[in-house]
Amino acid sequence: MAKPKVAICWLGGCGGCDEAVVDINEVILGVASAVDFVLWPVALDFKYHSVEGMKNGEIALSVINGNVRNSEQEEVAKLLREKSQLVLGFGSCACFGGTPGLANLTTKEDIFNWVYRDAPTVVNPDGNYPQISTRVAGKELTLPEFYKHVHALNDIIDVDYYLPGCPPPPHLVMYAVSAVLENKLPPKGSTLAPQRALCDSCKRNNSKPERLAIREIKRIHEVETTPDICFLAQGVICLGIATRDGCGESCLNINIPCRGCFGPVEGVADSGAKFVSALASILDVQSDEDIARVVDQIIDPVGYMYRFSLPASTLRKKQG
Ligand code: SF4
Ligand code: SF4
Ligand code: SF4
Repeated sequence: MAKPKVAICWLGGCGGCDEAVVDINEVILGVASAVDFVLWPVALDFKYHSVEGMKNGEIALSVINGNVRNSEQEEVAKLLREKSQLVLGFGSCACFGGTPGLANLTTKEDIFNWVYRDAPTVVNPDGNYPQISTRVAGKELTLPEFYKHVHALNDIIDVDYYLPGCPPPPHLVMYAVSAVLENKLPPKGSTLAPQRALCDSCKRNNSKPERLAIREIKRIHEVETTPDICFLAQGVICLGIATRDGCGESCLNINIPCRGCFGPVEGVADSGAKFVSALASILDVQSDEDIARVVDQIIDPVGYMYRFSLPASTLRKKQG
Protein backbone atom coordinates (compact mmCIF):
# COMPACT_ATOMS: atom_id res chain seq x y z
CA MET A 1 0.00 0.00 0.00
CA ALA A 2 1.27 3.48 -0.84
CA LYS A 3 2.46 5.44 2.14
CA PRO A 4 0.66 8.71 2.99
CA LYS A 5 2.41 11.76 1.58
CA VAL A 6 3.43 14.47 4.04
CA ALA A 7 4.74 18.00 3.49
CA ILE A 8 6.43 20.13 6.15
CA CYS A 9 6.88 23.76 5.29
CA TRP A 10 8.24 26.92 6.92
CA LEU A 11 6.63 30.28 6.07
CA GLY A 12 7.23 33.42 8.18
CA GLY A 13 8.96 31.99 11.24
CA CYS A 14 12.35 31.53 12.83
CA GLY A 15 13.05 27.88 11.98
CA GLY A 16 12.53 26.76 15.57
CA CYS A 17 9.39 24.87 14.59
CA ASP A 18 11.33 22.84 12.01
CA GLU A 19 13.82 22.08 14.78
CA ALA A 20 10.93 20.97 16.98
CA VAL A 21 10.00 18.29 14.43
CA VAL A 22 13.41 16.67 14.75
CA ASP A 23 13.30 17.11 18.54
CA ILE A 24 11.12 14.00 18.63
CA ASN A 25 14.46 12.21 18.23
CA GLU A 26 14.40 8.60 17.04
CA VAL A 27 10.59 8.72 16.63
CA ILE A 28 11.26 10.73 13.46
CA LEU A 29 12.81 7.58 11.96
CA GLY A 30 9.56 5.69 12.50
CA VAL A 31 7.63 8.59 10.97
CA ALA A 32 10.02 8.66 8.01
CA SER A 33 9.40 4.97 7.35
CA ALA A 34 5.61 5.33 7.70
CA VAL A 35 5.17 8.31 5.35
CA ASP A 36 6.61 9.71 2.14
CA PHE A 37 7.90 13.23 2.63
CA VAL A 38 7.16 15.21 -0.52
CA LEU A 39 8.31 18.64 0.69
CA TRP A 40 10.46 19.71 3.62
CA PRO A 41 12.66 22.58 2.42
CA VAL A 42 14.77 22.77 5.58
CA ALA A 43 15.77 19.09 5.36
CA LEU A 44 15.11 17.65 1.90
CA ASP A 45 15.70 18.87 -1.63
CA PHE A 46 12.20 18.80 -3.11
CA LYS A 47 10.98 21.66 -5.28
CA TYR A 48 7.67 23.51 -5.22
CA HIS A 49 7.03 22.59 -8.86
CA SER A 50 6.94 18.91 -7.93
CA VAL A 51 4.10 19.74 -5.52
CA GLU A 52 2.41 21.81 -8.24
CA GLY A 53 2.36 18.68 -10.42
CA MET A 54 0.42 16.64 -7.82
CA LYS A 55 -3.30 16.00 -7.86
CA ASN A 56 -5.49 18.00 -5.48
CA GLY A 57 -5.67 16.19 -2.14
CA GLU A 58 -2.74 13.92 -3.03
CA ILE A 59 -0.82 15.00 0.09
CA ALA A 60 -2.34 13.44 3.20
CA LEU A 61 -1.01 16.09 5.59
CA SER A 62 0.77 19.41 5.31
CA VAL A 63 2.41 20.65 8.49
CA ILE A 64 2.83 24.40 8.08
CA ASN A 65 4.75 26.56 10.50
CA GLY A 66 5.24 30.33 10.40
CA ASN A 67 2.87 33.14 9.58
CA VAL A 68 2.13 34.84 6.26
CA ARG A 69 3.79 38.19 5.61
CA ASN A 70 4.54 38.12 1.90
CA SER A 71 3.18 36.93 -1.42
CA GLU A 72 5.50 33.91 -1.68
CA GLN A 73 4.32 32.62 1.70
CA GLU A 74 0.69 33.10 0.63
CA GLU A 75 1.33 31.27 -2.65
CA VAL A 76 2.98 28.29 -0.88
CA ALA A 77 0.23 28.14 1.78
CA LYS A 78 -2.47 28.10 -0.91
CA LEU A 79 -0.60 25.50 -2.98
CA LEU A 80 -0.28 23.15 0.00
CA ARG A 81 -3.91 23.72 0.95
CA GLU A 82 -5.03 22.74 -2.54
CA LYS A 83 -2.89 19.61 -2.64
CA SER A 84 -3.55 18.43 0.94
CA GLN A 85 -6.34 16.54 2.66
CA LEU A 86 -5.33 17.98 6.03
CA VAL A 87 -3.42 21.10 7.05
CA LEU A 88 -1.91 21.36 10.53
CA GLY A 89 -1.01 24.88 11.70
CA PHE A 90 2.20 24.15 13.62
CA GLY A 91 3.50 26.57 16.24
CA SER A 92 2.35 29.93 17.53
CA CYS A 93 3.34 31.84 14.37
CA ALA A 94 1.02 29.70 12.25
CA CYS A 95 -1.73 29.52 14.88
CA PHE A 96 -1.83 33.16 16.00
CA GLY A 97 0.88 35.14 14.14
CA GLY A 98 3.54 34.57 16.81
CA THR A 99 6.18 37.03 17.97
CA PRO A 100 6.74 38.40 14.41
CA GLY A 101 3.07 39.44 14.63
CA LEU A 102 4.08 42.27 16.97
CA ALA A 103 5.23 44.00 13.77
CA ASN A 104 1.52 44.74 13.28
CA LEU A 105 2.06 47.50 15.85
CA THR A 106 3.94 49.44 13.20
CA THR A 107 3.53 50.06 9.47
CA LYS A 108 5.21 48.51 6.46
CA GLU A 109 6.59 51.97 5.57
CA ASP A 110 8.16 52.44 9.03
CA ILE A 111 9.73 48.96 8.84
CA PHE A 112 11.24 49.65 5.40
CA ASN A 113 12.48 53.10 6.44
CA TRP A 114 14.22 51.65 9.49
CA VAL A 115 15.69 48.58 7.80
CA TYR A 116 16.85 50.25 4.55
CA ARG A 117 17.46 53.86 5.62
CA ASP A 118 17.51 54.79 9.30
CA ALA A 119 19.12 51.92 11.25
CA PRO A 120 22.61 53.02 12.38
CA THR A 121 24.35 50.18 10.53
CA VAL A 122 22.69 50.93 7.17
CA VAL A 123 24.72 52.48 4.32
CA ASN A 124 22.34 53.26 1.48
CA PRO A 125 23.38 56.58 -0.12
CA ASP A 126 21.16 56.09 -3.19
CA GLY A 127 18.10 55.38 -1.04
CA ASN A 128 17.39 52.04 -2.75
CA TYR A 129 14.46 50.06 -1.39
CA PRO A 130 13.52 46.51 -2.44
CA GLN A 131 11.24 46.43 -5.47
CA ILE A 132 8.80 43.69 -6.46
CA SER A 133 10.14 43.90 -10.01
CA THR A 134 13.43 45.28 -11.36
CA ARG A 135 15.00 45.12 -14.82
CA VAL A 136 18.68 44.20 -14.86
CA ALA A 137 20.56 43.69 -18.15
CA GLY A 138 17.28 43.34 -20.01
CA LYS A 139 15.93 40.72 -17.63
CA GLU A 140 13.20 41.06 -15.03
CA LEU A 141 14.15 40.16 -11.46
CA THR A 142 11.35 39.75 -8.94
CA LEU A 143 10.94 39.65 -5.18
CA PRO A 144 7.90 38.58 -3.16
CA GLU A 145 5.60 41.44 -2.17
CA PHE A 146 5.96 42.37 1.50
CA TYR A 147 2.43 42.71 2.88
CA LYS A 148 1.16 45.48 5.10
CA HIS A 149 0.56 43.11 8.00
CA VAL A 150 1.41 39.71 9.46
CA HIS A 151 -1.39 37.14 9.09
CA ALA A 152 -2.05 33.98 11.05
CA LEU A 153 -2.34 30.99 8.70
CA ASN A 154 -6.12 30.71 8.98
CA ASP A 155 -6.42 34.28 7.72
CA ILE A 156 -5.15 32.97 4.37
CA ILE A 157 -6.24 29.32 4.10
CA ASP A 158 -8.57 26.87 5.80
CA VAL A 159 -6.68 25.13 8.63
CA ASP A 160 -7.86 21.73 9.90
CA TYR A 161 -5.87 21.42 13.14
CA TYR A 162 -3.71 23.59 15.36
CA LEU A 163 -0.65 22.74 17.43
CA PRO A 164 0.47 25.80 19.43
CA GLY A 165 3.74 26.56 21.18
CA CYS A 166 6.88 28.45 20.39
CA PRO A 167 7.82 25.87 19.36
CA PRO A 168 5.43 22.98 20.14
CA PRO A 169 7.00 20.57 22.67
CA PRO A 170 8.08 17.06 21.56
CA HIS A 171 5.33 15.22 23.50
CA LEU A 172 2.60 17.15 21.67
CA VAL A 173 4.35 16.75 18.32
CA MET A 174 4.37 12.98 18.93
CA TYR A 175 0.71 13.07 19.97
CA ALA A 176 -0.16 14.91 16.73
CA VAL A 177 1.91 12.51 14.62
CA SER A 178 0.29 9.41 16.14
CA ALA A 179 -3.22 10.95 15.93
CA VAL A 180 -2.68 11.44 12.19
CA LEU A 181 -1.00 8.09 11.50
CA GLU A 182 -3.57 6.13 13.55
CA ASN A 183 -6.49 8.15 12.21
CA LYS A 184 -7.55 9.21 15.72
CA LEU A 185 -7.95 12.90 15.08
CA PRO A 186 -10.50 14.97 17.02
CA PRO A 187 -13.09 17.07 15.13
CA LYS A 188 -11.80 19.47 12.47
CA GLY A 189 -10.77 22.82 13.89
CA SER A 190 -9.46 21.31 17.14
CA THR A 191 -6.30 22.38 18.87
CA LEU A 192 -4.17 19.31 19.60
CA ALA A 193 -3.40 20.32 23.18
CA PRO A 194 -5.29 20.32 26.49
CA GLN A 195 -8.34 22.59 26.68
CA ARG A 196 -7.69 23.90 30.21
CA ALA A 197 -5.50 26.80 31.35
CA LEU A 198 -1.86 26.35 32.31
CA CYS A 199 -2.73 27.33 35.91
CA ASP A 200 -4.76 24.13 36.19
CA SER A 201 -1.64 21.97 35.90
CA CYS A 202 0.86 24.37 37.45
CA LYS A 203 2.55 23.07 40.58
CA ARG A 204 2.46 26.60 42.01
CA ASN A 205 -1.32 26.82 41.82
CA ASN A 206 -1.85 25.50 45.34
CA SER A 207 0.27 28.32 46.72
CA LYS A 208 -2.25 30.94 45.65
CA PRO A 209 -3.98 32.56 48.60
CA GLU A 210 -7.77 32.20 48.73
CA ARG A 211 -8.07 35.67 47.32
CA LEU A 212 -5.22 37.04 45.22
CA ALA A 213 -4.78 40.76 45.89
CA ILE A 214 -2.05 42.64 44.03
CA ARG A 215 -1.07 46.17 45.01
CA GLU A 216 2.15 46.37 42.98
CA ILE A 217 3.27 44.85 39.69
CA LYS A 218 6.94 44.01 39.41
CA ARG A 219 9.03 42.85 36.48
CA ILE A 220 10.80 39.54 36.81
CA HIS A 221 14.26 41.13 37.05
CA GLU A 222 13.15 43.52 39.80
CA VAL A 223 12.38 40.88 42.39
CA GLU A 224 13.91 37.65 43.64
CA THR A 225 11.00 35.30 43.15
CA THR A 226 10.40 32.26 45.30
CA PRO A 227 10.15 28.98 43.39
CA ASP A 228 6.92 27.08 44.12
CA ILE A 229 4.95 30.27 44.85
CA CYS A 230 2.55 31.53 42.19
CA PHE A 231 4.09 34.45 40.29
CA LEU A 232 0.89 36.46 40.53
CA ALA A 233 0.97 36.11 44.31
CA GLN A 234 4.46 37.65 44.12
CA GLY A 235 3.21 40.56 42.01
CA VAL A 236 4.84 39.31 38.81
CA ILE A 237 2.69 38.99 35.69
CA CYS A 238 2.24 35.38 34.63
CA LEU A 239 -0.10 34.72 31.72
CA GLY A 240 -0.75 31.11 32.75
CA ILE A 241 -4.18 32.13 33.94
CA ALA A 242 -5.26 32.87 30.34
CA THR A 243 -2.96 30.52 28.42
CA ARG A 244 -3.67 27.02 27.15
CA ASP A 245 -2.01 24.19 29.03
CA GLY A 246 0.28 21.67 27.31
CA CYS A 247 3.83 23.01 27.27
CA GLY A 248 4.90 20.99 30.31
CA GLU A 249 5.43 24.24 32.29
CA SER A 250 8.67 24.87 30.42
CA CYS A 251 9.18 28.43 31.63
CA LEU A 252 7.77 27.93 35.13
CA ASN A 253 10.19 25.05 35.71
CA ILE A 254 13.08 27.47 35.30
CA ASN A 255 11.39 30.12 37.46
CA ILE A 256 10.22 32.29 34.57
CA PRO A 257 6.57 33.33 34.33
CA CYS A 258 4.44 32.25 31.39
CA ARG A 259 4.45 34.62 28.39
CA GLY A 260 1.48 32.98 26.67
CA CYS A 261 2.98 31.07 23.72
CA PHE A 262 0.23 28.44 23.78
CA GLY A 263 -2.40 31.07 23.07
CA PRO A 264 -5.91 31.26 24.47
CA VAL A 265 -7.67 28.43 26.27
CA GLU A 266 -10.54 26.63 24.57
CA GLY A 267 -13.49 28.87 23.82
CA VAL A 268 -11.56 32.11 24.39
CA ALA A 269 -10.83 34.19 21.31
CA ASP A 270 -8.46 36.74 22.81
CA SER A 271 -6.01 35.65 25.50
CA GLY A 272 -4.75 39.21 26.08
CA ALA A 273 -8.23 40.53 26.83
CA LYS A 274 -8.89 37.51 29.03
CA PHE A 275 -5.73 38.20 31.03
CA VAL A 276 -6.56 41.91 31.42
CA SER A 277 -9.97 40.96 32.76
CA ALA A 278 -8.41 38.42 35.17
CA LEU A 279 -5.81 40.96 36.30
CA ALA A 280 -8.48 43.61 36.91
CA SER A 281 -10.26 41.19 39.23
CA ILE A 282 -7.20 40.61 41.43
CA LEU A 283 -5.87 44.17 41.70
CA ASP A 284 -6.26 45.46 45.24
CA VAL A 285 -6.46 49.16 44.39
CA GLN A 286 -9.20 51.64 45.19
CA SER A 287 -8.54 55.17 43.97
CA ASP A 288 -8.12 56.29 40.35
CA GLU A 289 -4.55 57.36 41.23
CA ASP A 290 -3.76 53.91 42.59
CA ILE A 291 -5.17 52.25 39.46
CA ALA A 292 -3.15 54.55 37.19
CA ARG A 293 0.00 53.85 39.23
CA VAL A 294 -0.36 50.08 38.95
CA VAL A 295 -1.27 50.20 35.24
CA ASP A 296 1.86 52.29 34.65
CA GLN A 297 3.88 49.45 36.20
CA ILE A 298 2.94 47.23 33.23
CA ILE A 299 5.63 48.07 30.72
CA ASP A 300 4.56 47.60 27.08
CA PRO A 301 1.14 46.10 27.91
CA VAL A 302 0.24 45.16 24.31
CA GLY A 303 3.63 43.58 23.69
CA TYR A 304 3.30 41.70 26.97
CA MET A 305 -0.26 40.42 26.67
CA TYR A 306 -0.15 39.77 22.91
CA ARG A 307 3.45 38.67 22.46
CA PHE A 308 2.39 35.59 20.47
CA SER A 309 -1.11 36.37 19.34
CA LEU A 310 -1.58 39.95 18.11
CA PRO A 311 -2.59 39.11 14.48
CA ALA A 312 -5.28 36.69 15.73
CA SER A 313 -6.56 39.00 18.48
CA THR A 314 -9.27 41.63 18.53
CA LEU A 315 -6.60 44.32 18.12
CA ARG A 316 -4.96 42.57 15.11
CA LYS A 317 -2.97 45.53 13.75
CA LYS A 318 -2.25 49.22 13.84
CA GLN A 319 -5.11 51.02 12.17
CA GLY A 320 -4.65 53.42 9.25
S1 SF4 B 1 6.31 29.55 16.71
FE1 SF4 B 1 8.24 30.18 17.68
S2 SF4 B 1 9.68 28.55 17.14
FE2 SF4 B 1 7.94 28.40 15.72
S3 SF4 B 1 8.53 29.61 13.92
FE3 SF4 B 1 7.36 30.95 15.30
S4 SF4 B 1 8.94 32.01 16.52
FE4 SF4 B 1 9.90 30.20 15.62
S1 SF4 C 1 -0.43 32.32 37.39
FE1 SF4 C 1 1.43 31.31 36.64
S2 SF4 C 1 2.56 30.72 38.49
FE2 SF4 C 1 0.46 31.16 39.11
S3 SF4 C 1 -0.56 29.18 39.09
FE3 SF4 C 1 -0.91 30.15 37.09
S4 SF4 C 1 0.71 29.38 35.76
FE4 SF4 C 1 1.31 28.97 37.90
S1 SF4 D 1 5.11 28.57 30.24
FE1 SF4 D 1 3.87 29.80 28.81
S2 SF4 D 1 5.36 30.87 27.50
FE2 SF4 D 1 6.44 29.19 28.54
S3 SF4 D 1 6.34 27.46 27.11
FE3 SF4 D 1 4.57 27.29 28.50
S4 SF4 D 1 2.87 28.34 27.45
FE4 SF4 D 1 4.77 28.96 26.47
